Amino acid sequence: MNASLNPKRTIAELKELRALTGDENGAQRVAFTPTWVKAREWYQKKLEGMPVEIHRDAAGNLWTTLRGASEKCLLIGGHIDSVPNGGWLDGCLNVMAGVEILRRINTQYGGKPPVTVRLVDWADEEGARFGKSLFGSSACSGNLDMNEARGLVDKQGIKLPDALKNVGIDFERVKDSGMELKNAAAYLELHIEQGPVLLDLNLPLGAVLGTFGVERHAITFQGQAAHSGSTPMNRRKDAFLAAAKMSSEIYQIAGRSGNGVCTIGSCTTKPGIVTSVVEECRITLDQRHLDAAKLARMLHEAKEASEKFAKEGNVRVSWERLWQIAPRPFNDELIALCDESIRETCGQSHRLPADRCTTPRKSPLRAYLP
Ligand SMILES: [Zn+2]
Repeated sequence: MNASLNPKRTIAELKELRALTGDENGAQRVAFTPTWVKAREWYQKKLEGMPVEIHRDAAGNLWTTLRGASEKCLLIGGHIDSVPNGGWLDGCLNVMAGVEILRRINTQYGGKPPVTVRLVDWADEEGARFGKSLFGSSACSGNLDMNEARGLVDKQGIKLPDALKNVGIDFERVKDSGMELKNAAAYLELHIEQGPVLLDLNLPLGAVLGTFGVERHAITFQGQAAHSGSTPMNRRKDAFLAAAKMSSEIYQIAGRSGNGVCTIGSCTTKPGIVTSVVEECRITLDQRHLDAAKLARMLHEAKEASEKFAKEGNVRVSWERLWQIAPRPFNDELIALCDESIRETCGQSHRLPADRCTTPRKSPLRAYLP
């Protein structure tokens, strides 16, 4: 039977979704909102006519199953939810490409492929409302911190468990979602690139090596407030000076690490007035690397540098960990398979690390920042 993919249909469907659930500022499919529910209803209509079973799991993830000869499952995933004013391809490209692949496999094998194929639309991958991303997928993989999630509150003061109850999800049971992974053999996801690497190389596709490990810390330098007019330069304990030295240092640290990245994303000063030397300066440092040892090295170097700068400036420094996660290298065979498919499709592939797809961009940062 003639079975080929029709990517033009996917693009047309993505435009349809954009018209249905976006406005002039972008996609508005924030999880657990009426627009998100509407998007999922639309998505399920696209699956009609195929011999698939569709159900929502305990964490609100939406599973579509095409049973094959083997129970072993190939999972294809994505997220139809978006941040407020989101991009038109983030997340929904993955699920809609999955729909097209499912159509093709269904046609090719007359409704009975050699292995079971399942599409999953993860619930609240973006975390836009509660400031904590990857809700559905971390519940499913067993990595959700229940105590932390139980206490999450949105801007209206609504708790996550109550918001979930409104859409028929029992918070205390969300980890039951893990049973969906029973026969999982492989997981594939097509995602729009969120950095400029492939763009700069003028390549349409790349294979992702894994997700970065992250070390996220607040660093506080403590000096002494002093009048900006009457305090000579050599008598100052300037907390900002020490913090400012970190700014250029992290570029050296990242450079030495190979493919690591470091970001000072926020800086607050006290007393924070134009006529005083800075008494206290708090910066946040976010470090990421695909290699756990190199990530640890970057952190160590940043700590040493902060102590050196503190000493030079006669101020004190203290560190507070805000968040960390280990790197997750992806499966070598699947990476090789992706590489091969990409070369077949466009002649050349490129391997790159990925950011976690939902690190807050336009979403609130309050879960991470002071
Ligand atoms: Zn995404």
